[in-house]
Amino acid sequence: MKKSFDVLVIGAGSGGLAVAEKAAALGRKAVVIDAGPLGGTCVNAGCVPKKVMWYAANLAAATQEAHGYGVRVHFDGIDWPRLVAARDRYVADLNAYWQGYLQRSDVAHVPGYAEFVDAHSVRVGAHTFSAEHIVIATGSRPLVPDLPGASLGITSDGFFRLATQPRRVAIIGGGYIGVELSGVLRAMGSEVTLLARDPRLLRDFDVLVAEVLAVEMQRQGIHVHFEQQVTSLQQEADGIAVHVHDGTTFTGFDTVVWAIGRTPNTAGLQLERAGIVLQGDASIAVDDYQNTMVSGIYAVGDVTGKLPLTPVAIAAGRALAERLFDNRPTRRVDYTTVPSVIFAHPPIAVVGLTEAQAVAAHGAAVTVYETAFTPMRHALSDEPSTTAMKLVCVGAEQRVVGIHLIGHGVDEILQGFAVAMKMGATKADFDATVAIHPSSAEELVTLRRSRPGNIAALLIQAA
Ligand code: FAD
Repeated sequence: MKKSFDVLVIGAGSGGLAVAEKAAALGRKAVVIDAGPLGGTCVNAGCVPKKVMWYAANLAAATQEAHGYGVRVHFDGIDWPRLVAARDRYVADLNAYWQGYLQRSDVAHVPGYAEFVDAHSVRVGAHTFSAEHIVIATGSRPLVPDLPGASLGITSDGFFRLATQPRRVAIIGGGYIGVELSGVLRAMGSEVTLLARDPRLLRDFDVLVAEVLAVEMQRQGIHVHFEQQVTSLQQEADGIAVHVHDGTTFTGFDTVVWAIGRTPNTAGLQLERAGIVLQGDASIAVDDYQNTMVSGIYAVGDVTGKLPLTPVAIAAGRALAERLFDNRPTRRVDYTTVPSVIFAHPPIAVVGLTEAQAVAAHGAAVTVYETAFTPMRHALSDEPSTTAMKLVCVGAEQRVVGIHLIGHGVDEILQGFAVAMKMGATKADFDATVAIHPSSAEELVTLRRSRPGNIAALLIQAA
């Protein structure tokens, strides 16, 4: 017998839970299906466990700076099993929270893999469920290349399952997950080699933050190699060897991490039975309202190939539920001006257009302000680290269309500035705001130097 719902959600991650939660709050009968633990990638193998590791790494790194301030402390390594056990308890608490929340909110939860039967029904094992509205929120998974020996490497999922701290690690990939894991492991005392395919890190980010990060990573002792196309992995007596395109071999790793990107979870859903055709990258195309090509079927989150961030998936899920069930036909997410943070060492925080994007769109109407400095935090420490900031402005009124920050604390600085930017703030509005002193953030409201300068290049020369 078929069970029937107002809305059926496949995937209990950030986006799926947001749809189900909102639909139930609006009085609709909702069911969420998931093969894994509640919370999806963010809670179980993404933002949450990653940030726990980042906090631990920050504490370890702070011990290196402490003695300059007269603080007697000695870094004696990480108690990895203890850290991992505490982290996993925290994650289990979040899983339990969601379980209780779904029960309290009267959202049905069906564990298992879902596959479409037709455009209105979905099967999980022997059970079939139907709904007027079906939402695909199945997220994405890490890519492993089809190369000889590739299975010797792990992915970010495997990183969160490591029972002991890796000592000699190769991270393959210069995107945000690669640089985050490199920073965490290095701060904890591992020897880290990062192999990036491109001539720079963080291809889609502004060149300033990417270049300053590369300098900072090298200063911390991370071996960063650019333009490395990995061709195979091989188990040798002294560890795993990584072979690259020009015949070079990097050897002796106990752990190799593939951080080369993610692919949407669409295989196995039998989408063809519902009439959905995938895009070339296996993602599901949606319009501005999360509608797929089939009426009554929607998609939110990473599976759509749009901005793979938890708050974006949540916002899309909530907006969809409000549009469908709260009589708000124009409700949708604004995918522009989305702030994001890379929890690297030091962190990066960005919102809006990069300088290159702004110039491509607005040409000579673009003005750029930037600065780089050693923040006061490092005044007494032997571990100097650069903070750099860039404002990208457009037009005679100098409307701020991009903010790019790297340095201690920028992860917490950006959110408020993102509000200002979304409201249409201009450089004059920034300048009219009284600074908070002494802080790094004050630099953003006291930027005086309109470029040309090339701070990133200067930093690289100085390194
Ligand atoms: P997910 O959260 O991935 O949920 C999808 C769910 O669908 C999963 O639970 C899966 O089990 C289930 N599923 C898949 N197929 C099926 C099926 N056939 N049947 C039933 N269930 C199925 N984002 C941030 O905003 N900030 C960060 O700091 C951040 N850090 C990250 C760090 C790492 C290492 C990674 C990997 C990701 C990080 N992200 C971060 C990205 C963030 O985790 C994702 O953007 C977000 O989880 C996407 O939510 P989603 O709902 O689309 O999918």
